[in-house]
Amino acid sequence: MGTRGREIVGKHAERVIELLTKAFADEWLAYYQYWVGAKIVAGPMKDAVITELMQHAADELRHADLVSGRIIQLGGTPITTPKKWFDWSNCSYEDPADPFVRKILEQNIAGEQCAISVYHALLEEVNGKDPVTYNLATQILQDEVEHEEDLQALQEDLNIMLRDRG
Ligand code: FE
Ligand code: FE
Ligand code: MG
Repeated sequence: MGTRGREIVGKHAERVIELLTKAFADEWLAYYQYWVGAKIVAGPMKDAVITELMQHAADELRHADLVSGRIIQLGGTPITTPKKWFDWSNCSYEDPADPFVRKILEQNIAGEQCAISVYHALLEEVNGKDPVTYNLATQILQDEVEHEEDLQALQEDLNIMLRDRG
């Protein structure tokens, strides 16, 4: 941790670490939900959906990496055991027990909408207090907005396909 770098965040550091730790738990759970969903998804447009889910899984893992880097810069420690992910998570986990493509898309869209709310709230809270975390949250929020749109576009295509089949 750089001392001057932490000093500019000052008394807000503990709260920022707490919010980042919650986001970190969300990212790992989102990563796994996408990753395992891509393995088991079944139904129409499966190949296009798998491609998107795997890209998003990679993005969520990259987000976990970015968030953990900032936690460490602020003097915190990333969660060291997966058991605690559920204790910290905002968005929790939607078990893709039903592998139907429509259900998997719905679950992951809900996850992205939660992620968008989380990073939006983080931006509001760190605005004017921690410009580095603000910049990080902006970058990640851009990805989450894109993720939601990608999944909803697939959902629309699926709806058209299923409708046209009668
Ligand atoms: Fe993410
Ligand atoms: Fe995402
Ligand atoms: Mg995408």
